[in-house]
Amino acid sequence: MCNNKIDLRVLPKEEISNIDLNCVDLDAPAPEYEPQRQYYFISKLRSIVKSESEKAGHPLTFFVQTFGCQMNARDSEKLRGVLELAGYASGDSEDADLVVYNTCTVRENANLKVYGRLGYLGSMKKKNPNKKIALCGCMMQEPDVVEKIKKSYHFVDLIFGTHNIFKFAELLVTALESERMVIDLWKDTDQIVEELPAERTYSFKSGVNIMFGCNNFCSYCIVPYVRGRERSRRPEDIISEIKSLVQDGVKEVMLLGQNVNSYGKNLDTPVTFAQLLRQIEQIEGLERIRFMTSHPKDLSDELIEVMKHSDKICRHLHLPLQSGSSRILKQMNRKYTKEQYLELAAKLRREIPDLSLTTDIIVGFPGETEEDFQETLDVVRRVRYDSAFTFIYSRRTGTPAAAMKDQIPEEIVKDRFQRLLTLVQDISQEMSARVQGQTLPVLVESLNEHDPALVTGRLSNNLLVHFPGTEDLIGQTVYVYLKECKGFYYIGELRK
Ligand code: SF4
Repeated sequence: MCNNKIDLRVLPKEEISNIDLNCVDLDAPAPEYEPQRQYYFISKLRSIVKSESEKAGHPLTFFVQTFGCQMNARDSEKLRGVLELAGYASGDSEDADLVVYNTCTVRENANLKVYGRLGYLGSMKKKNPNKKIALCGCMMQEPDVVEKIKKSYHFVDLIFGTHNIFKFAELLVTALESERMVIDLWKDTDQIVEELPAERTYSFKSGVNIMFGCNNFCSYCIVPYVRGRERSRRPEDIISEIKSLVQDGVKEVMLLGQNVNSYGKNLDTPVTFAQLLRQIEQIEGLERIRFMTSHPKDLSDELIEVMKHSDKICRHLHLPLQSGSSRILKQMNRKYTKEQYLELAAKLRREIPDLSLTTDIIVGFPGETEEDFQETLDVVRRVRYDSAFTFIYSRRTGTPAAAMKDQIPEEIVKDRFQRLLTLVQDISQEMSARVQGQTLPVLVESLNEHDPALVTGRLSNNLLVHFPGTEDLIGQTVYVYLKECKGFYYIGELRK
């Protein structure tokens, strides 16, 4: 029962997450400022969900499908957080009353996958016209995609993008109150609104966005066009978010950004990524710090120093190479040469000997010759990656590389891809075996999928370990003897 109705226009944002949403004064105009404005609409959404659930005779359910990267996974946790707070029940499939696709567009097949699923959703909506469908994420930032959806998938109720994902509650209310498709897409933004509810996938670890967008414009990449210009969160906001996550049981954070090494450049008082890490390290109760993704051109000696002397920063660095040929790297607009990358990798291996180094490599970039490809293999042999994500070049409309001539024939690309994969896997197996016989700390993440007598956890160097253990170990850091390396993971024994 509410004694006083709460006017969110006058409530400080620090108090917003503790209020009873049933007491929000919805007769008052919606606040102008965020995040109060979204909490107003979450409260409004609650009353809609309540009455619609009564009409339906069951609690309305939702299902959020995430495509793509860890930044999208973190955004989806926020979408789920808003829907849970609004009274939706979490569904486990597209049978749900509300289906949200958080899309990716980094490669062509990501788009094709979404169109395929949309067709299926359309047939479900024919049977259940009350079903609601919302689309967001990077793919929606492409004007051609939105035109195609308006024309071929007009049963979609809501389309929004990467820049205004924080407005989800407000946009969903608009879509539920109107009979037409609601589309709200922004070209770019300088707004950052992170103080919204989030439903984390794991209780003991969490992604934390530290910056958004990218200014690098690698010639094959669509991200700068769909995620906008770089903008960093204020360090004090990041620190306070991590502190409240730790209070909530989080032991490990993954700091997220398209290029975390250029963190802080747009802040009123610039702060380097290394300086931010030093501040985060001071947080009591936080055990592990991970981060991705790093761009080699911005990886500073200061960062290497901070990693080297840190007890909390994990012994894993993901450092995309993309190509080993300086000629191709120039075409890709990566802003470093083969020699510079090799020097950086050698310095990292020298300064942090137990570091696990992983990478991304693209095969078949326009104009790539066998000699260029041999340069890539040469870097792989010399850096000896712990593992590598290998990709076949995907032509992305709107990127400079898409207009380049000399697109490589498929059979040549496939042959190179296979040769690269074999080399990467051979070396990765050798590198993974480096810690065999040691007893190391493992953060236990889950029961083993295949054998309930085992639990699965992750080493600081990001390798998985399976060992006999019970469910109560999940979320704890325990010492495990690494008995046998099985190529890309370990079988271990718990050590008290
Ligand atoms: S650094 Fe390059 S590859 Fe990475 S997101 Fe930015 S433009 Fe894309």
